Amino acid sequence: MKKISIFCLSLLILNLSFGQPNPTAQKYGASITEADLKENLTIIASDAMEGRETGKRGQKMAAAFIAAYFEDLDLKGPVSGSHYQPVPLFTTSAPVVAIKAGTTEISADKYLFFGSGRTNGDVNLPLVFAGKGSDAELEKLDVNGKAALVFLAEGASIRNNAVLTKLREKGARALFVAVEKSDEFARLSGMARRFSGGSLSLKKPEAGEITGSFVVSAEAASQLFNTTFEKLKKAEKVKPASVSYSISQAVSEVRSENILGFLEGSDKKDEVVVVTAHYDHIGISAQAEGDKINNGADDDGSGTVAVLAMAKAFSQAKKDGNGPRRSILFMTVTGEEKGLLGSEYYSENPVFPLDKTVVDLNIDMIGRRDPAHKDSPAYVYVIGSDRLSSELHTLSENTNKTYSNLVFDYLYNAEDHPDRIYYRSDHWNFAKKNIPIIFYFDGVHEDYHRPSDEVDKIEFDLLALRAKNVFYTAWEIANRDNRLVVDKK
Ligand SMILES: [Zn+2]
Repeated sequence: MKKISIFCLSLLILNLSFGQPNPTAQKYGASITEADLKENLTIIASDAMEGRETGKRGQKMAAAFIAAYFEDLDLKGPVSGSHYQPVPLFTTSAPVVAIKAGTTEISADKYLFFGSGRTNGDVNLPLVFAGKGSDAELEKLDVNGKAALVFLAEGASIRNNAVLTKLREKGARALFVAVEKSDEFARLSGMARRFSGGSLSLKKPEAGEITGSFVVSAEAASQLFNTTFEKLKKAEKVKPASVSYSISQAVSEVRSENILGFLEGSDKKDEVVVVTAHYDHIGISAQAEGDKINNGADDDGSGTVAVLAMAKAFSQAKKDGNGPRRSILFMTVTGEEKGLLGSEYYSENPVFPLDKTVVDLNIDMIGRRDPAHKDSPAYVYVIGSDRLSSELHTLSENTNKTYSNLVFDYLYNAEDHPDRIYYRSDHWNFAKKNIPIIFYFDGVHEDYHRPSDEVDKIEFDLLALRAKNVFYTAWEIANRDNRLVVDKK
């Protein structure tokens, strides 16, 4: 008896905390099918879409498909009647750089430039030698307003390098990284070619703003200090020198678009639930062998078709008289791969007031498994749910237990996780405006950002389960009595 009564009690507690599934929600959740997801993904991630690179033809075709899909569902175009929110961007061509040691021009095959920006003619700066950039070396060095030359450890990354960051924090205006070995210099040359130009920004690059570093060969480094490389390496009698350089890059405009479908709510229609996924990807890899098209089936075709499926389910619910109380904005954004640009543009130019925006549920890669979950039950990484609203976190947990029973993996939600995933997809542009978010993610796998991220590698049963989980979460948030409370900063 006792055992039974405890059993009954625990059932009661379970029911109280997780709730019974709502049959109406389940009816529309069930309309999210593997077949639909597959049909749409086969189009979105086809070779014809050419990898959907921001501003390119493939992205425009994907945009047209999504806008037509929203139109078919009778979703409203909320941007003066249109589904398109234009996102004006700027691009720069590969930089043309010239460097002089004193008055001597350094031969162009002896240096590389990793970065972007333009100068108005020659910049002349005192040049100081920063050795290997150790704390002891940097401490006594005055680099403020000067150029600095430093040796980095072999194989060190030029981007996000701690030594370079420190030099910049100490006020260095230009950074020169000396590379001793010619094969290392050749490796970096290849990288510089791949990264040069083509970056996109929301802000028009102005002359004078230089970001990045120069990489110089052993020969150029010795020329800059008018000494031998051996002496330079040993930091023997290295006298301060001067350097001048100029950088020019052509700036041009690129047009891109976020695609929005709006479903108006009923009695709480002023409050908006936002569901996002990025539909852009990284385009065509000119240097790849064989298949060059980065189809981005998982990244983020999977999120895009999940948004389409959710839009279809909610719009059918509304047609049947079961529409959500709050409004829902289905938004596929552009420019994610170029630095979360489309979502940043939206957050700076919102179509609906941000103070009426209740949540952003962002989906970026939900069609695959990562190596850590090769044989695990259906899972998804859940990131950010508890950062701004404890209510959102509880709702997300309970909704999952009521409807989906996915394993929620919070690995990447740890504030000190080195991958910093919380800052790396479009939800961040909502979170930074203090709007609660949840980010759904399947992890990094071997086809990440490669032409092999193809439709036939998608696990559609898993994709459907995850898409339904986001759907039920949106359903609960859109239909509950009270707006989610933001109780954390
Ligand atoms: Zn992505």
